[in-house]
Amino acid sequence: MKLYEYEGKKIFSIVGIPIPKGQVVYSPVNVPGKVVVKAQLLEGGRGKRGLVRVTEDSFSTISDMMKEGISTFLIEEFVSHNREIYISAMMDRESGNPMIIISPNGGINIEESKDVRTFVIPLDRTLMRYDVDAMEKYVGYRGLTPIVQGLLKLLLEYDAELAEINPLAITERGALALDSKVILDDNALFRHEELLKELRREKPASDSYVELDGDIGIIGNGAGLTMATMDLVKLMGGNPADFFDVGGGADMQKVAFAIERVGTNPRVKKIVINIFGGITRCDEVAKGILDGHSKVNKPIYVRLTGTKEDEGKEILTKAGIKVYEDALSAIGDALR
Ligand code: GDP
Ligand code: MN
Repeated sequence: MKLYEYEGKKIFSIVGIPIPKGQVVYSPVNVPGKVVVKAQLLEGGRGKRGLVRVTEDSFSTISDMMKEGISTFLIEEFVSHNREIYISAMMDRESGNPMIIISPNGGINIEESKDVRTFVIPLDRTLMRYDVDAMEKYVGYRGLTPIVQGLLKLLLEYDAELAEINPLAITERGALALDSKVILDDNALFRHEELLKELRREKPASDSYVELDGDIGIIGNGAGLTMATMDLVKLMGGNPADFFDVGGGADMQKVAFAIERVGTNPRVKKIVINIFGGITRCDEVAKGILDGHSKVNKPIYVRLTGTKEDEGKEILTKAGIKVYEDALSAIGDALR
């Protein structure tokens, strides 16, 4: 499971890797002073796409990015720094030992860098002073111990497949992780239920989520429509795994949250979404579906009608998600 930057940073701070101060928001807010607004997407390369912005007007910056369909933002203090290092940890496939990969020249063009070295720390011993010495010598910066220890902890205690910091900024108050890329081993997630609970987005005010024992996830707006969708799934021979009623006037953040909540249930194989747009605008819903779907990689079957229907359908179709005219066809395909 890929983690969002803000989720990875939460674990960083648990394992003692210093991070900038920040907060996660889902709508425009005004934070005084110079800050960095960072779109929370699972894909990298945000810097190059203009989705990491230094600004003194966080409100307008977030409003702008929301027009591009982004719903989750990390606002961080601006950290001035003169050096950026690349550092990551993963298991060496051949030897099965943890390794640290490091480069003195981190930043957004790391792929092209030739100055990259790998340091293996054999599993049968702990990290030694001389391991860190060699890394520090290579990058020309002293003070990597907590970073290296934290990254190794991510591999060994949190079952991370990859833990990457790019860039690690060298600042007046030491090394700070400005970015995080963490992938957890899907097969080990059951060992980290407590952690996953902590990482979940804040629960929206009026949701209703219920778990059952089948394998189809269901999302609808309004109790009536959600229940009717569930009945249809059963009538057509399927078995609901869980359902989520996003309620009336659901915004894209809530829809994304619903997909994440329904879809991360390990029993769910497919997700049926049945939205009748009234106050709820279909284009908002569609953006929320894309956002949620980037986290949950399971097939989804969408029925979407109502206000701004054409705009909503276009957003989804462009992204390769099929939209159905009626619930029967959507469920029919899901049960095929
Ligand atoms: P990515 O492009 O998706 O990997 O996003 P990053 O979080 O790595 O941001 C891209 C670039 O923005 C980094 O390489 C940094 O140079 C810069 N950046 C990110 N966060 C900060 C920050 O807090 N302060 C400053 N000055 N620059 C930042
Ligand atoms: Mn980065």
